[in-house]
Amino acid sequence: MLEDISFILKQVKEIIQKGGVVAFTGAGISVESGVPAFRGESGLWEKYDPNIYGNILGLGTTFLISPQKVASFVMDVYGTVLNARSNPAHLILARMEQAGLLDAVITQNIDNLHQEAGNGNVIELHGNLFIMKCMKCGNRKKMGKQEIEEMLSSINKSLYFRFKLFRTFLSLFPKCSCKGQMRPDIVLFGEMVPEEAMEDSFSEIERCNSLLMIGTSGVVYPAASLPYYARKNKKIVIELNEEQTSLSSIADYKLLGKASEILPKLL
Ligand code: NAD
Repeated sequence: MLEDISFILKQVKEIIQKGGVVAFTGAGISVESGVPAFRGESGLWEKYDPNIYGNILGLGTTFLISPQKVASFVMDVYGTVLNARSNPAHLILARMEQAGLLDAVITQNIDNLHQEAGNGNVIELHGNLFIMKCMKCGNRKKMGKQEIEEMLSSINKSLYFRFKLFRTFLSLFPKCSCKGQMRPDIVLFGEMVPEEAMEDSFSEIERCNSLLMIGTSGVVYPAASLPYYARKNKKIVIELNEEQTSLSSIADYKLLGKASEILPKLL
């Protein structure tokens, strides 16, 4: 069995050394940075009902009835991501890009950890918590960590004062120069994945030699259709995950284990 694993590792290493790799990452790559995945014991949706907190209608209605609940959710999500740091798996992907072996990272994550690690070509399918987007004109604005920390601190100070919390929330998310309201640029349930991100992903996959899927359960669409697109285009598909997933059946190579332990062995 051990021989099997080292044989697969050796083969995958050879594929990576040939270059033209595109990484397709999910929540699992950031688990060791302290950001829980969607599902599983400490998953976000174990704590918060996705029917309420996962869509704009649920969030808006809950905010009107009980703003404290939405405030606690926002503080929890942003607090977790603010405290997270890139782990060895993110850093290896950045080194692979610097070495000219990795063309792009296509990620479902919203935590900015690939950019923090040093990757330059990151396609974000579900947006980024640190970017605000105008709901009127679509203009985007990047927020610094300090700005977000100040935002969380104001929410915290108003947490037990209903009307103050309303006002704080409305003033926190910045106004655009077109006077439109901005909101975090993330894709909630029922919202569309940006067309440009999907198109860029298709182009990267068409050009690549191999697709390296890391820490994704492959159940969120349309993101999960990308490995099938790679397969259809006759690319080598490699899966790195702690467990079997719905994408395992289309992987040519399967590496079972933690991303931060396996990835350093590939470079
Ligand atoms: P998921 O929660 O459905 O699945 C996570 C996968 O990662 C599982 O298959 C699990 O076995 C695997 N995994 C867990 N720890 C691992 C490790 N250390 N090494 C390797 N694999 C590991 O995540 P998903 O497929 O990305 O689901 C989609 C949604 O989750 C996306 O829409 C994404 O936006 C959202 N999400 C993102 C973050 C983040 O930005 N870090 C966190 C939670 C959820």
